[in-house]
Amino acid sequence: MRRITVLGATGSIGDSTLDVIRRHPERYAVHALTAHRQIDKLADRCAEFRPARAVVGSESAAAELRERLRVAGVGTEVLHGDAALAEVAADGEADTVMAAIVGAAGLRPTLAAARAGKRVLLANKEALVMSGAIFMDAVREHGATLLPIDSEHNAIFQCLPFDDPRYRAGVARVVLTASGGPFRTRDPASLHDISPDEACAHPNWVMGRKISVDSATMMNKGLEVIEAHWLFGAPAERIEVLIHPQSIVHSMVAYADGSVLAQLGNPDMRTPIAYGLAYPERIDAGVSPLDLVAAGTLAFETPDLQRFPCLALAFDALRAGGVAPAVLNAANEIAVDSFLQGAIRFTDIAGVVARVLEQGPRHAADSLDAVLQADQQARALARTLVQAGGRASAGARAGANVGTSAGNNAGNNAGNNAGNNAGTNAGAATPS
Ligand code: NAD
Ligand code: MG
Repeated sequence: MRRITVLGATGSIGDSTLDVIRRHPERYAVHALTAHRQIDKLADRCAEFRPARAVVGSESAAAELRERLRVAGVGTEVLHGDAALAEVAADGEADTVMAAIVGAAGLRPTLAAARAGKRVLLANKEALVMSGAIFMDAVREHGATLLPIDSEHNAIFQCLPFDDPRYRAGVARVVLTASGGPFRTRDPASLHDISPDEACAHPNWVMGRKISVDSATMMNKGLEVIEAHWLFGAPAERIEVLIHPQSIVHSMVAYADGSVLAQLGNPDMRTPIAYGLAYPERIDAGVSPLDLVAAGTLAFETPDLQRFPCLALAFDALRAGGVAPAVLNAANEIAVDSFLQGAIRFTDIAGVVARVLEQGPRHAADSLDAVLQADQQARALARTLVQAGGRASAGARAGANVGTSAGNNAGNNAGNNAGNNAGTNAGAATPS
């Protein structure tokens, strides 16, 4: 019997994880569940799964949850705050931790789980983007088992087992697929009027709002490029991104002999989650069988870096190294949140990130403190850019930035790693 802690149990990944667990009561018990603010939902989940412990964001949320559980006759211990979150992630009573908090808030608890030697099911890509080397060292030093849940990385993992160095030697490149999000074919001139709900309406996946906006800008793929670098030890020039609008091929590994291994399936996160939970076994995930005849055509195209400057910015941050990926992530979190609050336009997101990458800290990422300090500085800078400019002028600045720095960067990146077609696209990305 595995005992599972789900960090971020009320989110989209949390829902899918509990759905897989629910199907296999003989294999899995829930040790702890955490949520930030959704107390009603967490109370329902505690009533169903009877965890020993639950963690929420604030004292008042904890009081509310305790009362709900008392009335329902559920004996779950309720804790709150960041220290409790990290403590529960490392709790000796659980052997497996699903890291499904969104954003930088997941870094400390996910790292705590790795340092406690858990089987870590990693959905929280931002944690790895921020602290890649520190996180991977913790996994090695403490004997943790890191299993990627992001569908692309799970696909690559299935085609390239970590633990057999014989495979590694023959890898030519890893190929991350991307749906291209809701705006893949939309006229770029119309993108500045996008509403948050339009940006969150993903064609193939139902996800939380932050990752949905990231998919629309393709920053999600950029974060995943950095994630792949750390998980699979792949340098930037061996990581390729291909747009695949059907989201059936979840990613691929190309080997030196010309073989390309791909993992296919319906776009349903329960597949990678079930793979992580049962690894190396396979269990029913509740996912409908893939019907390739019904899927019809599987298409692939090169991403247009002018349309998706955030993807180029992420390659820049990976190449720059040090705290640059943490800076990229922090600026993006603030920019996306500002967009969701109506403070900036969709098209301002890339500009804010580009500006913070240019002006933000550049020190080495040699300790968690160094990373968290860069994260805070980048957030402050991004907030200043959002506030100082307001909607209109932040947009103008952002536009100028994207045209110059992201455009040039896109050119460099594409020439090196995104393939010849990307090079053609990026070449057209001249400053306007
Ligand atoms: P979501 O917004 O649906 O859920 C986020 C969860 O994190 C919630 O349970 C929330 O309570 C918790 N949370 C939010 N802020 C917090 C804070 N400050 N402190 C503690 N807990 C906090 O997000 P999601 O779509 O489930 O995504 C979760 C993570 O998984 C993200 O890192 C995302 O990139 C990654 N991911 C998601 C999908 C997907 O299909 N949803 C796919 C791949 C990767
Ligand atoms: Mg993904």
